[in-house]
Amino acid sequence: MTTFVIVGGGLAGAKAAETLRAEGFTGEIVLFGDESEVPYERPPLSKDYLLGKKPRESAYVHPAEWYAENSVDLRTGVSVAAIERPTHTVIVEGGTQHYDKLLLATGAAPRRLDIPGEALDGVRTLRKLPDSDALRAEFTRGRRVVIVGSGWIGLETAAAASIAGCQVTVIEPQPTPLYYAIGPELGAVFTVLHQAHGVEFRFGETAAEFHGDAAGRVGSVLTSSGTVLPADVAIVAIGAGPNDGLARGAGLELSNGVVTDSALRTSDPDIYAAGDVACSFLPLLGTHVRVEHWSNALNGGPAAARSMLGQEVEYNRVPYFYTDQYDLGMECSGLPSPGAYDQVVYRGDRATLEFIAFWLAGGRLIAGMNVNVWDVTDDIQSLIRSNRTLDPSRLADPAIPLADV
Ligand SMILES: Cc1cc2nc3c(=O)[nH]c(=O)nc-3n(C[C@H](O)[C@H](O)[C@H](O)COP(=O)(O)OP(=O)(O)OC[C@H]3O[C@@H](n4cnc5c(N)ncnc54)[C@H](O)[C@@H]3O)c2cc1C
Repeated sequence: MTTFVIVGGGLAGAKAAETLRAEGFTGEIVLFGDESEVPYERPPLSKDYLLGKKPRESAYVHPAEWYAENSVDLRTGVSVAAIERPTHTVIVEGGTQHYDKLLLATGAAPRRLDIPGEALDGVRTLRKLPDSDALRAEFTRGRRVVIVGSGWIGLETAAAASIAGCQVTVIEPQPTPLYYAIGPELGAVFTVLHQAHGVEFRFGETAAEFHGDAAGRVGSVLTSSGTVLPADVAIVAIGAGPNDGLARGAGLELSNGVVTDSALRTSDPDIYAAGDVACSFLPLLGTHVRVEHWSNALNGGPAAARSMLGQEVEYNRVPYFYTDQYDLGMECSGLPSPGAYDQVVYRGDRATLEFIAFWLAGGRLIAGMNVNVWDVTDDIQSLIRSNRTLDPSRLADPAIPLADV
């Protein structure tokens, strides 16, 4: 019997298994996940689950019984230690597993600061359900929370802590939050949003040391300016790096993750990669990108599965991300990092937090972000895909439907 092995029990891995069955694959599917939980989605970990608004099971990709019902051999709590390409085998503790085709969906892991005191109790990162459980228990009224990094997870965590009544300070070396994700113009919108909820930012600073209290728990954070910030909890939220150790050990091509073509094939024709770990060729941009977003795992896992089945696949989606912070809901299509654009155009009012921002390069739309405005993502993505020179005044004019811009 043909055996497809999926390493990584997250969203990409679970959706790949679902697609294999939906496409009629009748061979064996073995899904290895090193967490004890069934595959789950991570966005709620810094939002509704962290806020205690949603139960644990609501994060599951499929109900626990789905795997047996669909003959997917889910092995939770099992870490794959190595891939032996010549024998088409993966090595797990106490055994081996043959594969005909293999999907790497191992995701990413939080980056560490590598500064003194980082191992103290109370210095945390957020990636897994137990991390979210631990933060939820820490976020009680009046506690002092210091967050290092103001990317998406840093800000969402700041919002959750602030809503729980904590005193929140965010340390960020750049002049705005989300600097590399959306640039300073739109980053400033998030500064104002969080300040309105009592969050203090310390821009232009980094964390230099964590200091322990008498009980050996984190008690304060020393910043690069020499300031000591009292802290009951510290959260390191400085981004994530790909879990590419298996691929490295197997000698696959790597460059900021596991390199794939647009069919999500790695440099080994029997090994595929999807989700946060993959750095895939995106025809739309004409380059390889590693996209650490939910929708890339949601769609990339299925695309890899179809590719494993021998179907013609070109994975070419506009990168898409969403966030929820306080009463702000936002969707962003494209990759508007500083240097990628030369103009920002707004439709609507930033002050009332109901607007669309468009990032242009040479008059062409490279990204768009809708804030508390809905059902415009398809139009924004069509404009990005069109690669046509656009009139900024028409983009800014709310009277002109986006489809007519
Ligand atoms: C707190 C949080 C909030 C987020 N919020 C948003 C959001 O609002 N919007 C958005 O677009 N994106 C968000 N993201 C990003 C999104 O969740 C990720 O892009 C997505 O989880 C990637 O899915 P994945 O399947 O590639 O990897 P993962 O979800 O990381 O799953 C990979 C799994 O593989 C396991 N694994 C790794 N190595 C091995 C091994 N050797 N053997 C067995 N198992 C292994 C890992 O432990 C993990 O369980 C958020 C991420 C986090 C952490």
